[in-house]
Amino acid sequence: MLTTCCSWGSPLWTSRTTSIQSVMSRLWRAFASSPLSARRFLFIIPGTSAPSMTLSSWWQARQFLTYKIKGAYKYLGVRVGLNYRQDNSEFFQGITRDVKLVAASPLAPWQKFTTIRAHILARAEFLCRNSHIQKRDVAELDKTLISTGKRILNLPTRANVNLVHLSCNKGGAALPHFRALLEIYTISHAFRLLASDDPITSDVAFAGLQSAVRKKILRDPTPGECADFLNGKKADDFARDAGDLSTQWSRARQAADRLAKYIKFSWTYKEELGCFHLNIYRSPNPVCVVPSTAGLVTRLLRDDLESFYIRQLSGLVDQWKTVEVFSQHPASNHFVQGGDFTRFCDWNFIHRARLGCLQLNATMRFSKRNPKCRKSGYARETIPHVLNHCKPHSDAWKRRHDAIQNRVARAITSSCGSVSLNKKFPGISQTLIPDMVLTKKSGEVFVIDFTVAFEERPQVFCLC
Ligand SMILES: [Zn+2]
Repeated sequence: MLTTCCSWGSPLWTSRTTSIQSVMSRLWRAFASSPLSARRFLFIIPGTSAPSMTLSSWWQARQFLTYKIKGAYKYLGVRVGLNYRQDNSEFFQGITRDVKLVAASPLAPWQKFTTIRAHILARAEFLCRNSHIQKRDVAELDKTLISTGKRILNLPTRANVNLVHLSCNKGGAALPHFRALLEIYTISHAFRLLASDDPITSDVAFAGLQSAVRKKILRDPTPGECADFLNGKKADDFARDAGDLSTQWSRARQAADRLAKYIKFSWTYKEELGCFHLNIYRSPNPVCVVPSTAGLVTRLLRDDLESFYIRQLSGLVDQWKTVEVFSQHPASNHFVQGGDFTRFCDWNFIHRARLGCLQLNATMRFSKRNPKCRKSGYARETIPHVLNHCKPHSDAWKRRHDAIQNRVARAITSSCGSVSLNKKFPGISQTLIPDMVLTKKSGEVFVIDFTVAFEERPQVFCLC
């Protein structure tokens, strides 16, 4: 065997083989005239001490490979091959078709999301993590997910797409943006190879990385330069345009370059520990991923991508108002996954209202309409005005307030204590009537008043 840690045609082996092949082919041509010298020439794999095979036996193996593996075969469920170019377009077209079918089905909106996530997109998970997928293969799927997500959330086309990509706990539909997700998987896969528990796997991965960097800077790289390569450095020796062969490592380099727009992170090499670390500069607590926690890389980067979506959404001039508050706690979004306590009319209203996309006089874009409130004549008909300040709706405010109060009262069990609603309480001013007084069995008394605040910035929300 040429190497003990990976099979012919595995992704790791394929990227190394391509580079080794070109060197060995040149050597073979030089030695071809002398079969005797070729037999004495030994092929040494970088990172290992023992010679593994003679040049002539390597050449025979290569002939065999070229002959046998023109096409592809499956390695751990992923189609690979030495001369095989992966084409997953058909697979993703099938997924796109299924997403459209589910969107057109008579399921409830939240059921459609669950079906798309759990039964359709889950099929692509393994392939995305372990295979090299061209971005153009997922372009159509990304477009379909965005348009489908917006339609199910009852958002207009002008609504920001980030709500479609946010997780359910943050109030979104949790439909991924595949282009960004593939970059994260590429970084994660590279880190897990270098951080592998198996020393042979990590050595071969490191040797492959060194080989890719060597082609770029035309000399033996230090481990620090390997980290610079993965960080997408383009200055000094890395400024050379040539030397960018497509390997696992060059793809990780490009992925880091593209992800830098969304997430701040960097590779570093710790000389004293002899391993790579991944620093994720999230605020307020930066994270350093070490080899023992390599399995967390994907989740941490996805979390950071989600934080970027929230920051971007809250920076918009027209759709920024509520996202910072409703994404704070999963309780604000309890209805997104299961549709609990939610009617279809509530569902159709709430996502539009959260993004400020309701058809109100003062929030309509590119409209010459008079911004005055159509009910009360107030200067601007905005969502906070309609929901909380428009006097003709005051009866609806009271019913909303009472509904919340009764819901809380029902949730308090009798073992907890006794509850009184809208009654004077001795000890408190005779003119005041608290919404709720909870008297616990221990004798403690809680006086509770309910208010419905408009969810704007967290600071304003806390003040309320
Ligand atoms: Zn009004």
